[in-house]
Amino acid sequence: MTERLYEQDGYLRETEATVTAAGQAGIVLDRTVFYARGGGQPGDSGELILASGSRLPIVDTVKGQDGAVLHLPDPAVSVLPAPGESVLARIDWNRRHRHMRMHTCLHLLCALVDAPVTGGNLNDEKGRLDFDLPESTVDKDSLTGALNALIARNIGTALEWIADEALAAQPELVKTLSVQPPTGAGSVRLLRIGDVDLQPCGGTHVANTGEIGRVRVSKIEKKSRLNRRISVVFEEV
Ligand SMILES: [Zn+2]
Repeated sequence: MTERLYEQDGYLRETEATVTAAGQAGIVLDRTVFYARGGGQPGDSGELILASGSRLPIVDTVKGQDGAVLHLPDPAVSVLPAPGESVLARIDWNRRHRHMRMHTCLHLLCALVDAPVTGGNLNDEKGRLDFDLPESTVDKDSLTGALNALIARNIGTALEWIADEALAAQPELVKTLSVQPPTGAGSVRLLRIGDVDLQPCGGTHVANTGEIGRVRVSKIEKKSRLNRRISVVFEEV
């Protein structure tokens, strides 16, 4: 079980930690700031700085068994740290921050399109959501304008926790058909964006919509009769 510091604070860039296991499948720490791939958000990359001072590049982060977070070392690395060793775990912050900006932007997109979400994905350049939307009721220019208007309002975001039973009593909070929130731990984390959006989410987000920066709806594609894919890119290069 890895303590996931990013679940409380997405702005943590590094932490001291102790290695609890290390092998070809990945390095497990007792605590980490590395986001484990999930919910359409990529796993973090970065580095572990070992007690000797040497730097071990981490190329991806995924979920392991029993709540472990697996830090995947660069395949070229042959010497791994030993269990019990202290390390400094540091993420590639520029990449992660772009994930946080795009992830928060996709929440705004979800709030603007009145249809269930059937899938989604993002990286440090773009993001997309698929909607169960049979009719073409959205267009690129008006969605772009509405997104940038919400971003410009500088709306604060906040984390909230809801008990499993309370969430079960409010099924309207769950807007994603493809991914159900991880119940079973007693409570589920929600992201609130002012009066605009509230939904269960395990990803990392910016504190204020203004931090997203200007975006543009780049594509609206019909993937199937009941599936419309809306893609968003950052406006600046
Ligand atoms: Zn989210």
